[in-house]
Amino acid sequence: MPAKKGRVFSGARPTGRQHLGNYLGAVKNYVAMQDEYDCLYCVVDLHALTTLETTEDLRQNTMDMALDWMAAGLDPKKCIIFIQSHVPEVTELHTILSMVTPLGKLTDLPTFKEKVRENPHNVNYGLVGYPVLMAADILLYKANFVPAGIDQAPHIEFARETARSFNHHFNTDVLVEPQMKATQFPKIIGIDGEQKMSKSLHNDIEMTASAEETRARVMMMKTDPARIRRQDPGNPDVCNVYWMHKIFSTPEQIHMVDVECRRAGIGCVDCKKLLAENINKAMEPVREKRAELEKDKNLVWDILKDGDSRARAIAQATMEEVRRAIDLP
Ligand code: SF4
Repeated sequence: MPAKKGRVFSGARPTGRQHLGNYLGAVKNYVAMQDEYDCLYCVVDLHALTTLETTEDLRQNTMDMALDWMAAGLDPKKCIIFIQSHVPEVTELHTILSMVTPLGKLTDLPTFKEKVRENPHNVNYGLVGYPVLMAADILLYKANFVPAGIDQAPHIEFARETARSFNHHFNTDVLVEPQMKATQFPKIIGIDGEQKMSKSLHNDIEMTASAEETRARVMMMKTDPARIRRQDPGNPDVCNVYWMHKIFSTPEQIHMVDVECRRAGIGCVDCKKLLAENINKAMEPVREKRAELEKDKNLVWDILKDGDSRARAIAQATMEEVRRAIDLP
């Protein structure tokens, strides 16, 4: 087997069943990287606590997300899939890194300001330190690369600066500066045709929804707002259905929609039916794999447990070096 090109780390909050935005923007990319890189994929449950009001669904959401990842093709023989809080070293590194992080830098981050706007009554200490915990996640495993959407770029840059700051402060080279690997599909728009696909905005299509559910969601998609009647010519360039065709349909079908939409040769209903059919065709093997994995309730937990101990071995080795670099007694 050829040598791998470096180590990749990526974490995602346990949001439960994944939607097509997660699949196209992250999970597919995860799967593609597992053959080329040493990959660690982490369910970041501690991060989720910064905004969660209740932990009622945390366990089920963790399980559902891990199941979807594996159904989509993540193979525990090729990568490490694990739970953030099961490697307690991350909280130790978080504390240490917080000592080399100026507070103003954290409160200036656009994502922090956004969270404060969204949730003014719960601006907790964990929320301010969120990027430090994220940096600890990445640096703990000495990741060379972090796959991420463009909106995450400030956090990756922050992790790089934190590594530099620690290394400079303690005159060491223990921590590795990670590089961002931009994802192929940075932003998938939801069925509202306006905002990024998101579970909380209820504009999502679940990646392993049944064929009927998928069809129903696609039929709800917003189209070119100027195309009111069937005989009106449409503009595919402003239509999210067309954008999704570009992902799921054949080049001939994409061309057909482009041409026929502009001369009202195809109606939006038929256009959506074709899209739903193609999404269903693409997602069918993933759905089947999920159903297969679900048969053994313990399987996913066993895989995660194994991932926890493999991740922890790397984490413990890094923390040995970190403590030595600081000269902790
Ligand atoms: S025909 Fe298709 S691409 Fe054109 S506006 Fe309708 S849904 Fe959008």
